[in-house]
Amino acid sequence: MVFTHDTELALQAAVTLANSALDPDTLTTDEDLDRVWDAYQYSGRRDHTRAELDAVRALRPRLRAVLTAADDETAVSLVNEMLGETQAVPQLVRHDQLGWHIHAIGTDQPLARRILVETAMAMIDVVRADELSRLSVCADETCEGVVLDLSRNRSRRFCSTTCGNRNAVAAYRARTRDPAAS
Ligand SMILES: [Zn+2]
Ligand SMILES: [Zn+2]
Repeated sequence: MVFTHDTELALQAAVTLANSALDPDTLTTDEDLDRVWDAYQYSGRRDHTRAELDAVRALRPRLRAVLTAADDETAVSLVNEMLGETQAVPQLVRHDQLGWHIHAIGTDQPLARRILVETAMAMIDVVRADELSRLSVCADETCEGVVLDLSRNRSRRFCSTTCGNRNAVAAYRARTRDPAAS
C-alpha cells in the first residue's frame, strides 16, 4: 500500500468524481451518486436531493485541479484554500472496522463539503510523501482522465481499462503495419 487505506479511498473517490465529468458525464442522477457512495464506503449525511447532487457535480473541476496540480506549490495552495474555507478541524476518530484515523469535518456536514475536505486531507499525505507523481493525466491522446497510480512499480498510465486496451490495440497495429518500427 502506498498510502493509508482511508487516504487511498479518498483519492480514488476524488479521481472517480473528477473523471465522471468527462464526456459522457457519468454523474447525472442520484443513483450515480449512490454508486460512488457505495464504492468508496461513504457514511454520514446523505440528502438525496438535487441540490446535493449539483453541489457534488460543481465540485468536480476543483477536484480535478488539485489532483492534477502541476507541482507541490500549486497543490499546496489549493489544499490550504480547501481546508481554510471549510474550517476543517482534524479529529482522531475510530468507527466501524477502521482503526484510528482523522476526520477533519463532521459527518453531519453536506456531502460535497466533506468530499472537498477529505480530498484535501488525502492530498496532504500525497504532498508530504512527495508522491505527486502518482497522479497524472491519461496517456491516451484523446482522453483527459485523471490517473491514480497506486501500483508498486508505478506502471499505470491510463485512466481506465478502456483507454489501456485501445492503446494496446493501436500499438499492436502500428507494429504489424511496420515491423521495422518496433
Ligand atoms: Zn472515518
Ligand atoms: Zn483515459
